[in-house]
Amino acid sequence: MTTQVETAVRGPEAYGLARRTISEMEQAGVWPTPLNFELWLHYLGDPEGPLGREIQRVLGAGEPFSESTAEMLAAEYLPRGRLSEEIRDAGVVLDRELRTVAEAIAAAHRTHADYGATLSDAGRDMTSAADPSRLKKIVTGLATATRKVQRETAGLEKRLDSSTREIARLREHLEQARRDAMTDALTNLANRKAFDEQLVRACVEAEAAERTMTLAVIDIDHFKRFNDTWGHQTGDQVLRYVASVLNRLARHPRVAARYGGEEFALIFPAENRLKVMEALDAARQEIGSRALRRRSTNDELGAITISAGLAQHRKGDTASTLLERADEALYASKRGGRNRITDADAVDSVAA
Ligand code: C2E
Repeated sequence: MTTQVETAVRGPEAYGLARRTISEMEQAGVWPTPLNFELWLHYLGDPEGPLGREIQRVLGAGEPFSESTAEMLAAEYLPRGRLSEEIRDAGVVLDRELRTVAEAIAAAHRTHADYGATLSDAGRDMTSAADPSRLKKIVTGLATATRKVQRETAGLEKRLDSSTREIARLREHLEQARRDAMTDALTNLANRKAFDEQLVRACVEAEAAERTMTLAVIDIDHFKRFNDTWGHQTGDQVLRYVASVLNRLARHPRVAARYGGEEFALIFPAENRLKVMEALDAARQEIGSRALRRRSTNDELGAITISAGLAQHRKGDTASTLLERADEALYASKRGGRNRITDADAVDSVAA
């Protein structure tokens, strides 16, 4: 997808595509922020690609194209491109540094070879030189050659030092890019991609160690209504608030992520059901008991509530079967009146 769009934006139709992107964004009532523009450029460049289909779904469902929607889509569909750009840039710098170091080493080799030749010439000349002035000239020549080697060695050290620093800076930069690609920009929690990977890993570990593991999925109740009433910016603040409570709950080895628009997910490795339930219920109560305020007007927004569903890993469960059961439990919470937590086992026993 990225390659296709990159070609299009450098090809003969580039300006046409950019104009069409702006015009379609305007028609859809989407602000032309740089991120929205990037997303829409990809969408129009490849409408049937995964990002294109997701944008069509959001628009078709009448969901607002808010800042958080854009960030979710970017985290889900653009990070690979971003990360690969960072890697490509890093590759260029690394290449340059390696070339510099290789040239410096080659120059040092040449200098040392010359020095060796100078030394052996001097040794030969000394044995035949009876004249002190001739000897003095040989020694002066040796001193000059030695200083040259010292200078070159100091230069090589300096270049190696600067390359080491540049490579360390690069490593830090790449590490940051990797973290960004795994983080939801609005809430700073893990994003869906990171969470999916961790969930697969947690399932494999639970299976191998025959250990318990619980997945919880959480959804903010009536979030759409809240967004429609108070606007997307306030909606984004609510997402940040819920995320901050969940983040406090998710001390290592627990993992919390923003899973979708207003949906969050948590992994509880090796904890019994009671402890998981207690932790989730404490978060539910904390969130529901806080009266939020709209920052711009100080209007009282009232409390928001969350619903959750949890499922414990069973032998043979994969990430997707576990997610399915946790989702069913979440829907049971919604059907049961919201602001509650349902255990998938309770849903299973009712169904049985
Ligand atoms: P934030 O605005 O960046 O605030 C970060 C943290 O600073 C808050 O974490 C809280 O510990 C502290 N803080 C900020 N403003 C106030 C304040 O006016 N009074 C008090 N007592 N503490 C304050 P917290 O509470 O976990 O909230 C996390 C995020 O959730 C906030 O990030 C904000 O984006 C959102 N949020 C929380 N409560 C409200 C609210 O009542 N209205 C709005 N619009 N957003 C809220």
